[in-house]
Amino acid sequence: MSGTPVIGVLALQGDVREHVAALTAAGAQSVPVRRPRELEAVDGLVIPGGESTTMSRLVDVFELREPIDKRIVGGMPVYGSCAGMIMLATEVLDGRPDQRGFDGISMTVRRNAFGRQVDSFEAPVTITGIAGDPFHAVFIRAPWVERVGEGVQVLGQVADGPSAGRIVAVRQGNLLATSFHPELTGDARLHRYFVDLVRATA
Ligand code: GLN
Repeated sequence: MSGTPVIGVLALQGDVREHVAALTAAGAQSVPVRRPRELEAVDGLVIPGGESTTMSRLVDVFELREPIDKRIVGGMPVYGSCAGMIMLATEVLDGRPDQRGFDGISMTVRRNAFGRQVDSFEAPVTITGIAGDPFHAVFIRAPWVERVGEGVQVLGQVADGPSAGRIVAVRQGNLLATSFHPELTGDARLHRYFVDLVRATA
């Protein structure tokens, strides 16, 4: 693709504005997505942080489940951050029994994995394929990845501290997920990585 890619942010709940700003800073045109016809118009999609149980419910209310699953099967790049990572996992531990994600990355994630007492913390994380300093990763009631299936590439793990070694960034084909929130720290490298992926796919 030579032009500017159009990347939607699933805007049912969560930190939508921050992702729109980060994607714009990374060179994309970014639009909120709430309706199936808005989904049709995008080259890629970000699923933001928020609350995966609520998001799961709203995806059905807004009749977006089947359209998003279809676009994923069709190869549309999707990036999920935190609750978005949970929405992209094929298996969720400590979820609500009725919560459902998309048929996304072949992995098991644990919700609120870093401990319910540890609502939020920061740690350096190096991401494979992204040059420069480690990310200053912000975790907010974040999940971690407990198992990855075949074809899933681990891109990042917590470097040190009590959670050292925990998997917090993965990619499977055109699907990308992080436990942390790069949209909150003004570091556009991860969004740029995703914009490049969308550009290469469109
Ligand atoms: N704990 C939230 C959930 O289960 C995720 C938190 C976040 O996205 N910051 O969906």
